[in-house]
Amino acid sequence: MNIPHALAQVIRRSPSLSKLLEATVELVAREMGTDVCSVYLLEPAGRRLRLAATHGLDRRALGKVTLEPGEGITGIVVSEMRAIAVEDASKHPSYRYFPETGEEQFHSYLGVPMAIRNRPVGAIVVQSTDRRRFTRDEIETLHTIAAQLVGVVENARLIDALDHPDRGNRYLEELRSWRRETGQRDSENGEGEVVYHGNAASPGIAIGRIVFRGRYDPPVDTRASNGGDPARERERVDVAMEKTLGDVQRIQEAAEKETDEEHALIFSSHLLLLNDPTLEMRLHEAVDEGLDAAAAVDRVFATLESQLGNVTDAYLQERAEDIRDLRDRLLGHILEAGAQERIAQSIVFAHGISPSLVVELKVQGALGIVTERGGMTSHGALLARAMGIPAVTGVEGILADVHSGEDAIADGQTGTVVLRPAPRTLVRYQKKAEKVAATRSRLEKLRDEPARSTDGEVLPLLANVSLASEIREAVFYGAEGIGLYRTEFPFMIREDFPTREEQSRIYRRALTAFPDGVIQFRILDLGGDKYHPRITRADELNPVLGYRSIRLLLDHPKILKEQVRAFVQVAGRRRIGILIPMISSLEELRRARELIAEAIGEVDDDTVERDHRIGLMIELPAAVEIAAELSRQVDFLSIGTNDLIQFTLAADRENARVSPFGDPYHPAVLRMIRRTIEAGHGAGIPVGCCGEMAATPDLAALLFAMEVDNPSLTPRAIPTVKDAVRRVRILPLRKKIDEVLALPESGLIRARIREELERTK
Ligand code: PEP
Ligand code: MG
Repeated sequence: MNIPHALAQVIRRSPSLSKLLEATVELVAREMGTDVCSVYLLEPAGRRLRLAATHGLDRRALGKVTLEPGEGITGIVVSEMRAIAVEDASKHPSYRYFPETGEEQFHSYLGVPMAIRNRPVGAIVVQSTDRRRFTRDEIETLHTIAAQLVGVVENARLIDALDHPDRGNRYLEELRSWRRETGQRDSENGEGEVVYHGNAASPGIAIGRIVFRGRYDPPVDTRASNGGDPARERERVDVAMEKTLGDVQRIQEAAEKETDEEHALIFSSHLLLLNDPTLEMRLHEAVDEGLDAAAAVDRVFATLESQLGNVTDAYLQERAEDIRDLRDRLLGHILEAGAQERIAQSIVFAHGISPSLVVELKVQGALGIVTERGGMTSHGALLARAMGIPAVTGVEGILADVHSGEDAIADGQTGTVVLRPAPRTLVRYQKKAEKVAATRSRLEKLRDEPARSTDGEVLPLLANVSLASEIREAVFYGAEGIGLYRTEFPFMIREDFPTREEQSRIYRRALTAFPDGVIQFRILDLGGDKYHPRITRADELNPVLGYRSIRLLLDHPKILKEQVRAFVQVAGRRRIGILIPMISSLEELRRARELIAEAIGEVDDDTVERDHRIGLMIELPAAVEIAAELSRQVDFLSIGTNDLIQFTLAADRENARVSPFGDPYHPAVLRMIRRTIEAGHGAGIPVGCCGEMAATPDLAALLFAMEVDNPSLTPRAIPTVKDAVRRVRILPLRKKIDEVLALPESGLIRARIREELERTK
């Protein structure tokens, strides 16, 4: 029988959710020939999984058995949103049984998650007394059933909530902002533990005190008078300015040591403002008009902020954030001396994750970052990953719920943030953190080992870098070269352009660190989310689709050529790769190549190599379509999946709210990658992949199976990917690649990859 078809009939006929679930579990158990079928639903209130329907377990347990996501095998199915199939459940490390259900007699277990987008709703589980091995078809069938059921369950709950506001409010609140989950109350101190979910932007677990950044909590009396003593208040303003200047300079110096000099300039707009005589004058004027020091700061900065208006442009937003930051620092010194000192050993909560914030927090020894805005591939997030600071971004509404000084946990692995954790939760996370640290040190030992699968296939792993500190990490974690050198940072953080000599000095570090490996410098990819105050436009409605990247550089050939000359000069006799971003057409490529060739020809040094490898990034769906033609014009391709996903699925990579839509497992994305690889290989050139997706072990294995030549990834992810590759056979997955990519939904693809890899371990 076709179960999904039968289930559709059941759905049509069932008068209520409970009847529907009952009919479903009967149907599934009968048709799949299992002894048990149960549905567990995640309750918004309390966020526990509750047994909602069963065929085969003791019915007295219905509604009574509850478990936390992450607890038992079913809890893992839900918390990790993946199917688990085992022949003998009692051998699974997370096995636990509930005596009231009588389930200890059942051996084989198959559970699949029920989810809407990435929001978990529950799980559907089948069990049998025999030790049977569930087939791939069975797993897929259960996935299809879960997908069918989940919409109906959610609709029924919604209607129930509307009919019964008393019990339904919580559910409605959950629907409005599903990221927010209210956890168990901490019985020991009477304070509620609250769990939020955001983007797992940078791995690692931080456990510590909360400190705010970019928001000053204590209320400022905006009209407080100086009591007729302007001289004293002026003095307070001046002292605060001086102390703040000292703070910023100190951070800058520390940042120089930590990240090499170019990044210290990140604080240039702070310094410019602090040294701006007009700012000082405005503050003094406000005091002279009768305000006290704090009120004067508040008023002057409010005016500055309002001058920037309600900007949507990200560059201006960052400047507005710099201004807010300065205001908070000044008020910190006026109202509460040393307010900024607490960052060390704390978790910093802020609105956005700007590169300057990340650098500063690293320097100050913050444990982690939690922000309301930002996705996984925004530049602040990339930087946090590069610097090894755990970060969770895009946690909407969390700032309104936190108080500085409280405890929190930020899990950058899963994107979970726990506020006011209960003692039990703290212990759980401390153990997890220890485990993560132990795994890290085990993985670091793989540095000199190749990423060789158990069936002997070798995947060379290259590194994505943009900072000198990442180059050091790339060496440390055993990268074989640099697949993507993002050259934008030195350009983004200053008003002028770095000279050719300055650029050469920066690029030289890559060549010295990898005397033999591949080095691929990318031509400036400014615009979109990477701003330059002079040449990118701040007034575009949609800068990501705007005047950016290679479009912009073709209009500024001098900048492009100067950069290419810097590459060539610094490479000397060595052959390097020059990577062109955002190509959308052959015309564009031709023009870019002409300029590159001219620049190389113009280098005034007979000893330098001039025959460099020219490659292009496949980041636009248009480029995928013409990949075969493009491939004939270049020496290599590199697939930029961060942008390819963003443009294919219309999911802004900076917008946390749509990040679940930017799904790398989407069949459209994976099929495009496959076609690109085939097009490149058809033209006899290598194809790399330098988007973040290569840093996810299962996806890296899939890329490997699709015969990508040399993926390039965040240095810190190299050991994890290496470890994953070294545990599996790749050829069986390669043989099945057509089947995998023919699956119509990302959930099915994700499950299938997992299953194929598990099978070959
Ligand atoms: C990409 O788009 O995948 C990429 C690697 O480039 P960036 O992240 O720098 O835009
Ligand atoms: Mg890109």
